[in-house]
Amino acid sequence: MYTKEITVRTKRRNEFIEVTGEIEKTVEDSKVKDGFVILYVPHTTAGITINENADPSVKADILNTLDKLVPPNAGYSHLEGNADSHIKSTIVGVSQLVPIRNGRISLGTWQGIFFCEFDGPRTRKMIVHVVST
Ligand code: ZN
Repeated sequence: MYTKEITVRTKRRNEFIEVTGEIEKTVEDSKVKDGFVILYVPHTTAGITINENADPSVKADILNTLDKLVPPNAGYSHLEGNADSHIKSTIVGVSQLVPIRNGRISLGTWQGIFFCEFDGPRTRKMIVHVVST
């Protein structure tokens, strides 16, 4: 197994940052031809998702919809002031698994991998495990 830790610096409270290029580079460096890559975010107020990277309005729509579903300061019990961030992290999830075939991650034409910040700006970590099968 090949492992890499990627640092992600976020600039806004809620933000999707595309990391597809870093993941492709990590898979290339691993020399794994067939297998899968596990992407893991070890944070309670961030997440990772795969969605369209061609039209930036898609990520804006997702962020706006999450804000409507989980507004800040909606009478939560958690007193740290970031209950909405924790809830968004659980909705989106903190891991993804993508197959690798012929040395390349099997993303669809319009798919990109996004680190999801819900309580930024912060310096974050993303753990990438490349597994050969
Ligand atoms: Zn908290």
